[in-house]
Amino acid sequence: MPTPPGRTLSPSTDPHPIDPLAAVRGRILLHVKDTAKAPLNQVSAHRSGVVFSGAEATKNLNSFVMDACPECPTVLDPSEYERHFATPAAPFTRSDQLPLPGVPAPRPSPESAEPQPGGRRLHLTPTRYLRCDEDGEKALREAVAQADEASDPTLILAVPIDAQWLTERTDTLISLLHRSRLPKALILGDKDNPTGSKIRAKGLRQVISSCSDIALLRTDLAAVDAMVHGAVFASIGDTSSARHAAPPGSRPWRGSDSSPNVLYRPLMRYIRGAKLARYLEEEARDCFCSACAQWADDHHRYSGGRPPTGFLDPVDARDAHAHNMAVWSRLWAEIARQPSPEGAREYWRRVCDSAVGLDSWHHKDVPEYEKVFAAPAYLRFWAGRPERRNTWYR
Ligand SMILES: [Zn+2]
Repeated sequence: MPTPPGRTLSPSTDPHPIDPLAAVRGRILLHVKDTAKAPLNQVSAHRSGVVFSGAEATKNLNSFVMDACPECPTVLDPSEYERHFATPAAPFTRSDQLPLPGVPAPRPSPESAEPQPGGRRLHLTPTRYLRCDEDGEKALREAVAQADEASDPTLILAVPIDAQWLTERTDTLISLLHRSRLPKALILGDKDNPTGSKIRAKGLRQVISSCSDIALLRTDLAAVDAMVHGAVFASIGDTSSARHAAPPGSRPWRGSDSSPNVLYRPLMRYIRGAKLARYLEEEARDCFCSACAQWADDHHRYSGGRPPTGFLDPVDARDAHAHNMAVWSRLWAEIARQPSPEGAREYWRRVCDSAVGLDSWHHKDVPEYEKVFAAPAYLRFWAGRPERRNTWYR
């Protein structure tokens, strides 16, 4: 089998190796499942891209590329981890639509002596959900071995792990990922927020900073923490179901609040629109992100912005998703323009620190049992602050 181009962990005889991740390197992509309310029209082909997951992923991707943005980098996620648990005998689900391990794909022939950019159409392996147990470990070991036989330069090894791996099998995970010749894409699974505690946020940062050519997909602002600590690219979901995976067969808890989640920049987290409306009231200032500015224009609003307390109804979901993407895109642009990796990490830490400092201001009039804006432990970790003692929240 010829040496696949661009593999950084294997010896190569190609004097001008292709970087298979060139189209997405340094970018945060939008991650979508149901595209009906996704802000696909906001995706910049020059600064971002789209990861397509779910049963309709192939159809949605083809339609996006053909009808909306042919130049936009895309990643196809067959999402087999949503339906099946991996076993040592079957870490993957075979699919006719994918360049499967062991099935060599045509190797692109360089047309010039210059290094060639990677393809804009990347694919994840159809890896099944990896439990945090002995079988899950054996399955991941087998997945790495099988994927290493592939010669398709557009293939990325999907690593959909239960979030318990981050705390209970961290060293094993790092060791197995080091063996992979292919780029890796970590996808975290949990019934709740996979990185909702300090110890998991810390474990995730350790994994990301220990591995080369690793991406963190289908997540929230954890994508930014991963990027400043060495991830090659990342993706943020437009809906909560696209911001983490869940074990096959499990049903994520859904509360009675049907208002959309709004990324509230001052506090650096997603908060239900109804909750913002209830507690922010007069303190809320208009958001002037590109999506809210467009909304203000469409609605002839004099201020030129939209109050974050205005996302109350499920019909506001489309606007909320557009606002959320505009907010994290701008945040990442601010961080990415820092002159050094150290500067980018410090900028991110300071943004998180400011958000932690604001929590006391936001809940000054809220009863003790409703400290809805108290900074979660993972945010305090990102901010480099010590954990609070004797708190009931995570
Ligand atoms: Zn906005």
